[in-house]
Amino acid sequence: MGDFTLDLNDDQRSVRDWIHGFAADVMRPAAAEWDEREETPWPIIQEAAKIGLYSLDFYAQQFFDPTGLGIPMTMEELFWGDAGIALSIVGTGLAAVGVLANGTEEQIGTWVPQMYGDAADVKVAAFCSSEPDAGSDVGAMRTRAVYDEATGEWVLNGTKTWATNGGIADVHVVVAVVDPELGTRGHASFIVPPGTPGLSQGQKFKKHGIRASHTAEVVLEDVRIPGDCLLGGKDKLDERLARARERAASGGAGGGRNAAMATFEASRPAVGAMAVGTARAAYEYALEYATGREQFGRPIIDNQGVAFQLADMRTQIDAARLLVWRASWMATAGKPFTSAEGSMSKLFASETAKKVTAQAIQILGGNGYTREYPVERMHRDSAIYTIFEGTSEIQRLVIARTLSGVPIR
Ligand SMILES: Cc1cc2nc3c(=O)[nH]c(=O)nc-3n(C[C@H](O)[C@H](O)[C@H](O)COP(=O)(O)OP(=O)(O)OC[C@H]3O[C@@H](n4cnc5c(N)ncnc54)[C@H](O)[C@@H]3O)c2cc1C
Repeated sequence: MGDFTLDLNDDQRSVRDWIHGFAADVMRPAAAEWDEREETPWPIIQEAAKIGLYSLDFYAQQFFDPTGLGIPMTMEELFWGDAGIALSIVGTGLAAVGVLANGTEEQIGTWVPQMYGDAADVKVAAFCSSEPDAGSDVGAMRTRAVYDEATGEWVLNGTKTWATNGGIADVHVVVAVVDPELGTRGHASFIVPPGTPGLSQGQKFKKHGIRASHTAEVVLEDVRIPGDCLLGGKDKLDERLARARERAASGGAGGGRNAAMATFEASRPAVGAMAVGTARAAYEYALEYATGREQFGRPIIDNQGVAFQLADMRTQIDAARLLVWRASWMATAGKPFTSAEGSMSKLFASETAKKVTAQAIQILGGNGYTREYPVERMHRDSAIYTIFEGTSEIQRLVIARTLSGVPIR
């Protein structure tokens, strides 16, 4: 026998069971209430902080798990508990990854702990890239960052939209245009510290699903931030821009990694794992229901028409998890996504969650269609996975371009 294994090790199993306990005992019973309230479930984030489940330490530990499975395992269990509450707990992580992907060690040390606060005073953070006219088309971004030589400050102006925790966050990570001539290569990420004048919350959205998670516009009007709030620092930015300008002048494609894209690449398998969690929750509920519900004098699972649906649901969930684990393992092992494996995992898992949760409603019949039973909520929640962090169409575009080398549109 070689070293290959898909078994979780003892440490991973005990962490998974601990998260599962929180998901089952604290999140599940509160899920319907927070979905109806459409408010950030602060008391549950606080509970999570008290036991160390909402903390930089915990996520850092999972992030640096040498097998790569720490984050997907965590996401799957939390989103099995409830997607809206789970996103309220892990939304800060997207902003943290934005800093980890682009920041200096000093910036990481200063800002990431502040994003979480502590158990006595929990905080959340927001990652603001999308704009009203720049969703899939990140290159259409208009928010500008201009350096004020006189004060050494950056001045941000623009409107961000769809920001998870936008406006209620202490720390906002904002992607903005520093050189409009360079397209996405002219973007950079900035920290907007707590209480900075000029940053305000715009519209808060009333959503189809994940309603416990706060999603809002963030308006930036002459927001002045210190020079050292540019992630990666000015020298690195100037070097990167000079390289991009050289390539542009010689007719090249620009080169180098874009700030927002670096964040999304790293987080796609994690979104896939969230989808696996929601899909598994709906499948488990449907399996139990089908075993207990009787029609025609026998449990409905006695019919192949129902049992085969469950067989397909479980097969697709397991396949989705394997794609997520492969991408997560590759990312941790430093293997490049030469076939867009991160996008593949997100695409397949998110489409699976939508399909499986719809099948769960069908298996529960009329009950499945009501808010008395959780599969209806899970189906609404699952619709987000094919939209955020790159829609399914954009994932297919990334995969197809990577495989073919053709700039498919
Ligand atoms: C609940 C929620 C939370 C979010 N959280 C955040 C966050 O924290 N931070 C953040 O920055 N953003 C966030 N987003 C934004 C999210 O990433 C965008 O909604 C997403 O990228 C899609 O952009 P869009 O909504 O503008 O859709 P559009 O880009 O307008 O797309 C509309 C449709 O056109 C399709 N389409 C577009 N271009 C192409 C193409 N070239 N080929 C084929 N089809 C195409 C899309 O796939 C989609 O079906 C969030 C969104 C939601 C709904």
